[in-house]
Amino acid sequence: MAELTLPIVDATTEVYEDPLEVIEEIERLKKEQDAVILAHFYVDGDIQEIADYTGDSLKLARDATQATNSTIVFAGVHFMAESAKILSPEKRVLLPDLLAGCSLADSCPPQKLAAYQAELRAQGHDFVTVAYINTSAAVKSLCDWIVTSGNARELIEQKVPKDKEILFVPDQHLGRYLMEVTGREMILWPGSCMVHEVFSIQDLVRAKKRNPKAVVLAHPECPQNVVELADVVGGTEKMRRYVSSLSEPTTFLVATEANMIHPLKAIAPQHEYIPVPGIMADTGETCACNRCPHMARNTLAKVRDCLKFGRPEIVWQPYFEQAQDVLRRSLLS
Ligand code: SF4
Repeated sequence: MAELTLPIVDATTEVYEDPLEVIEEIERLKKEQDAVILAHFYVDGDIQEIADYTGDSLKLARDATQATNSTIVFAGVHFMAESAKILSPEKRVLLPDLLAGCSLADSCPPQKLAAYQAELRAQGHDFVTVAYINTSAAVKSLCDWIVTSGNARELIEQKVPKDKEILFVPDQHLGRYLMEVTGREMILWPGSCMVHEVFSIQDLVRAKKRNPKAVVLAHPECPQNVVELADVVGGTEKMRRYVSSLSEPTTFLVATEANMIHPLKAIAPQHEYIPVPGIMADTGETCACNRCPHMARNTLAKVRDCLKFGRPEIVWQPYFEQAQDVLRRSLLS
C-alpha cells in the first residue's frame, strides 16, 4: 500500500477524512455498484494503488472492454473516459471530476479541424488524418486513425498507404518525432501538452551533469531539444518495459508527468528515479509543472463520491458512433 500523506478534504463540507476509511468505503461501494476502477499512470499513486487496472491510454482503453463489470470508474481525464464509453457503450462510465480535461485535446477544437481539413482538400492535398488519442470524441469522429504513443509508429507504418499525405493532430512534438522514426512527411497541427512543453533543457543538462551515469527517459510529447538529449524515447509502457529489463541498479532522469515514477518504482524498485523539473520560475524556484493539473483533479474522495452518487457520468452522444468505428479499427483490431 502506498504511503498516504495528504489529508483528504471533502469539497462540499471541507471535513478532513481518514484516507483509510475512504478506501474502505470505495471497496464497499465497488461491490455494491459492480464497479471496476481504471487509473492512468499520471494520477496520484494512492489512487493507482486501489485501482483494478493501471496503465497508459492504450492499455486502459483495452482494459475497459475486457472488464465484465457494469460500471467503470475512470481515474484519468475526460477524453479517456469518453473513449472507454465509446468502446463499451453498454457500461456506465463515471469520471471522478468532469473538469479533468487536457490542454492537448483542447488545442484541437473539432470545428477548427474540420475547417482545416476542408482547406487542405481545396488545395488539392490527398491525406489521411491521424489523431493522437488525446483528442475529444468529436475530433476522433473526423479522423481516419487514432494512435497512442505506444502504437503510433507501428500503425502508421502498417496502415497508412505510402502514397497518402498525413495530417497529424494535435501534438506537434509527437508528430515531429514520428516523422523522424517513420520517415514520413506530415502536416502537423500546432498543439502541445502543457506538462511536457515546459521541460527545461537547462534543468535537464544540469541534472545530467550532476548524474553523469544517469539514463534519460523522455516521453515523445516533449519538445525536440529534450528528446534529442534522451537515451530512451517512449510512452509510459515502453518506459516500464525498459526499466524492468535492467537488473543492475541504475539512475534514471525521467522527463514526463511526475506521477509516472510510481509505476516505474513498482515494477523496478532497484533503480533510482529523478523527475526532470520544469522551467524555473522568475523567483529561481522550480515550478511543479511536471504534474498534470487535470490528472491531479482525481482524488480518493472524488472516486468515492462518484461511486456513491453515480455521477459525473459520460453520457452517449450521437457523434460517438463515428468515433467508435475509428477507435475500434485503430485500437482493438
Ligand atoms: S499530461 Fe498533458 S497530455 Fe496528459 S492529460 Fe495532462 S495535459 Fe493532457
